[in-house]
Amino acid sequence: MSVAIYPGSFDPLTCGHVSIIERGLRIFDKVIVGIAINIQKVPLLTLEERVALIQQSFPGDEVEVDSFEGLLVDYARRRNCTVLLRGLRAVSDFEYELQMANMNRKLDDTIETMFMMTEESHFYVSSRLVKEVARFGGKVEGLVPKHVEAKLNEKFGR
Ligand code: ADP
Repeated sequence: MSVAIYPGSFDPLTCGHVSIIERGLRIFDKVIVGIAINIQKVPLLTLEERVALIQQSFPGDEVEVDSFEGLLVDYARRRNCTVLLRGLRAVSDFEYELQMANMNRKLDDTIETMFMMTEESHFYVSSRLVKEVARFGGKVEGLVPKHVEAKLNEKFGR
C-alpha cells in the first residue's frame, strides 16, 4: 500500500488543504495528515479541534489524522513512510519549501518530498489569512469547508 504523510499545522483546514489531500489520494492509497505540534506557535484551534475538523472532511480509512512532535523525518520513519506531500502556492512558498526539503533529505535521504501545485482558485488561501479575515468578520465562505467556517464563527463569537 502506498502511503504519504501530509504535514502541516492545519489551523484550520482550508479548501487548499482539502484539494491537496484529494489529489494526493489519486496517487497514494492512503494519506496521513500529520498535524505538527509546534510549541512556539499558539494555535487558534486546539489539536483536538483540528483533528475533528479534518476527520469530518475525510471520514474514510484512506485518510488518517495524526499528530507529531519533533522532527518530521523521525515521525515518517516511525510511520514507515517514505513520502512527504507538500503543497506549493506562490513563489513565496518555494524558498521555504526548498530549504525544508533539502534539510529533510540531509537528515534522511530515503525520505522524498513530493510537491503538488495549488489549484489556481486556492493559490491565495492560507490558514493565517483565513483566520485574519474571520477574526474581523469577513466572509470565508468557499475558502474553508462549511464546518470549518462554523467553527471559526464560534471561535470569534459570531
Ligand atoms: P498554511 O500554510 O495555510 O498555514 P499549513 O502549514 O498547514 O498551512 O500547510 C501545510 C501544507 O499545505 C504546506 O505544504 C502548504 O504549502 C500547503 N498548503 C496550504 N494552503 C495551500 C493551498 N491553498 N494550496 C496548496 N497548498 C497549500
